[in-house]
Amino acid sequence: MLLFPDLPAILSGTLLQLPAAPARVQHLLLDSRRVGQPAGSLFFALRGPQHNGHRYMPELYAKGVRLFIIEAEAEIPGGVAAFPEAGFLLVEDSLAALQALAAHHRQQFRGPVFGITGSNGKTIVKEWLAQLLSPDELVCKSPRSFNSQVGVPLSVWELNPTHTLGIFEAGISERGEMARLARVIQPTLGIFTTLGTAHDAGFSSPEEKVGEKLQLFASVDTLFYCLDQPLVHQAAQALLLPHRRFTWSRHHPHEANVAVTVLETLADRTLVRVVLDKPLPQEHTFTIPFADEPSVENALHCLAVLLWRQVAAAEIQRRLDRLQPVAMRLEMKQAINDCYVLDDTYNNDLAGLTLALDALARQPRRGRRTLILSDVLESGLPAAELYARVAALLPAHGVERLIGIGPEISQFQSAFALAAKAFFPDTEAFLDDFRPDHFQHETILVKGARRYGFERIVTAFQQKIHGTVLEVNLDALVHNLNYYRARLQPGTRLMVMVKAFAYGSGSYEVANLLQFHRADYLAVAYADEGVDLRQHGISLPIMVMNPSPDSFQKLRQYHLEPEIYSFERLRDYLRAAGEQPLPAIHLKLDTGMRRLGFAEEDLPELCQLLRKNAAHLRVASALTHLAGADEEQHNDFSRRQLAAFQRMTPLLEAALGYPILKHALNSAGIIRFPEAHFDMVRLGIGLYGVEASGQHPEALRPVSSLRTTISQIKTLAPGETVGYGRRGQATDYERRIATIAIGYADGYDRRFGNGGGQVVIRGHRAPIIGNVCMDMCMADVTSIPAARAGDPVTVFGEEMPLVTLATGIGTIPYELLTNVSERVKRVFFAE
Ligand SMILES: *Cc1c(COP(=O)(O)O)cnc(C)c1O
Repeated sequence: MLLFPDLPAILSGTLLQLPAAPARVQHLLLDSRRVGQPAGSLFFALRGPQHNGHRYMPELYAKGVRLFIIEAEAEIPGGVAAFPEAGFLLVEDSLAALQALAAHHRQQFRGPVFGITGSNGKTIVKEWLAQLLSPDELVCKSPRSFNSQVGVPLSVWELNPTHTLGIFEAGISERGEMARLARVIQPTLGIFTTLGTAHDAGFSSPEEKVGEKLQLFASVDTLFYCLDQPLVHQAAQALLLPHRRFTWSRHHPHEANVAVTVLETLADRTLVRVVLDKPLPQEHTFTIPFADEPSVENALHCLAVLLWRQVAAAEIQRRLDRLQPVAMRLEMKQAINDCYVLDDTYNNDLAGLTLALDALARQPRRGRRTLILSDVLESGLPAAELYARVAALLPAHGVERLIGIGPEISQFQSAFALAAKAFFPDTEAFLDDFRPDHFQHETILVKGARRYGFERIVTAFQQKIHGTVLEVNLDALVHNLNYYRARLQPGTRLMVMVKAFAYGSGSYEVANLLQFHRADYLAVAYADEGVDLRQHGISLPIMVMNPSPDSFQKLRQYHLEPEIYSFERLRDYLRAAGEQPLPAIHLKLDTGMRRLGFAEEDLPELCQLLRKNAAHLRVASALTHLAGADEEQHNDFSRRQLAAFQRMTPLLEAALGYPILKHALNSAGIIRFPEAHFDMVRLGIGLYGVEASGQHPEALRPVSSLRTTISQIKTLAPGETVGYGRRGQATDYERRIATIAIGYADGYDRRFGNGGGQVVIRGHRAPIIGNVCMDMCMADVTSIPAARAGDPVTVFGEEMPLVTLATGIGTIPYELLTNVSERVKRVFFAE
């Protein structure tokens, strides 16, 4: 048990203030948005280029957090004295303090601890090893891929005295990082997976990279690795004596502890024959339930550990048979009756549950939050204590209804103080009882250990979803957001355009993520779009670009700020504002787009009007829009627009007598004119993965992928045509044609017909043949003999860039994105 006054000795800091009430340190907290249980939470104020944890002190204090590790007293709003009940420890480096605390915690644990690193496969090897060893051990492991400077200490903090084994992964991207992780994990056993090319930028040579990574293993008793990677082998030999290395190999059978002598790929599995060198040479044959090379390699790492532990061969095979692919992502899916399902059906330990509940709590959607939860496994805690802890997590994360499935959770149902709860002994019993109308406008977290087969529950919630989906990768969206953020001049605010259903990606979900990541403003085209966001719990300021006079009441009711671009609109607004107060406005200035806005010659009249109505009208900002920010050839014109804007805005500010926000740049402009970021920029297409200035096409990640399936495959005799108008050209050879489930009513442009577009099936491109129909179209798969009905088809996404597709039919990515019809279901996922 650790008390706040114990911390200075462990973290060597200066105690500034003791908490008013003595408090045990139970939870480590880094993010003010993720306060689950304030009592016993210790907040570390971290500072980064985009972020300063000290600023969130008032918010944390208001939520009940009382224990703080800080780096800079001066950066706390109001100073330490403003928080009389809180304890403060001042340290030099909060991140180092977090790691030191975790290292101290690790030292209390006596059992063996695996450290896993390598360029690929860390998470899968960790998950599989935990699965394979779970019959013998109570394993504490890193949740998901928590392997960073921050993720590792949080993972290690989960160790408790009832665990018998720890398995933690470590990932680094530059020099000096591994030594810090090694001090936290203090592994007694190690696995090096593979040495790839990822993150090469941080190292001067591959040798340096291996050397850095192997620092994790300097004090292990045994390191497991594949001897076929010469660089790894050399570095391991230099680091550790032979008795501290346990190797496997496919190509050097006489040098390794485990020689893989046969490796034979069957349809969906792989047969391996191995010879183990000690104590006497023994030969065994195993079947690995995967056929792809990375999975086989990951499984071989695990197999080496099992052989080293002398698990009997028949038992090894039984455990291998149960290996499951590792689901690395939490998906949010649209479901029946305006419900959303957060699908997390892979495992269910306490750390994973807490993460999933965080994700649920971050959904500001109105409507009930429901949790469907299986028995919680491998906690190492007595069941009564375990379910008491789970029960405490639920109200802290806003869960109002619980459906517990499994014998153990059912036994402890009285631990849960919720009004709405139901329990079932198993998944079948729940499904037998399932009635869609019992679920309405809810956000439902489905969280179950693999063995409960909760994917059947997710399917039940998705009954009516048709085969075409737009997958939206929320991690990619955040990546793109951060790319632009990192390019902003210091202090520049960020407005994000979520008009047109967030460029087709789903406005509420995108807006929610932006709110979580603290964008400053959102913008929509019409008042109704803003109303919809407000009804889904979005509280950021919202600008409405095209407000009609009959929407002014809505603007007031939902606090939406209109863009005003003409005298006519301004007079309408002033009239309405004279009757009752209305939100602040944004003045659109026309500097050369010649579309909407006040021109330079309108300014005298405009200023006069503003001055006269100063009492009941507030101006939040002035904006202009560039006509040619995408293209270098228009740079001179763009600069003239920016200069005009800079002439006009001081006049407005002089008339108003107070400063307003000034903003001019869209995505392409942000990159092209860093000198003109002004007070705010307006990010649009870049967030969704298209770098419109064309200068850094590789910097962004594609956000949405449009996917459908093959409905049927037909073989066409020479001379036959396909579809309406008999357009699919007749040829003199036999062709295979796949009918795919997407048409122009889904937003698949008719110009893609007759060879205008291609789709990707089984990794190959297939041209569209014949006309695109309303709900389907046809692709020529003659050159893809493996194609089958039911196969997934990618229309755009990683394998088929939007820009390529758009250029092919003479349009722009904006049109393709926004055309995807709302009948296409959106699936949101994060890794
Ligand atoms: C849509 C829009 C943007 C964003 O443009 P992108 O090219 O998508 O970045 C910026 N400003 C205004 C006024 C817009 O209408």
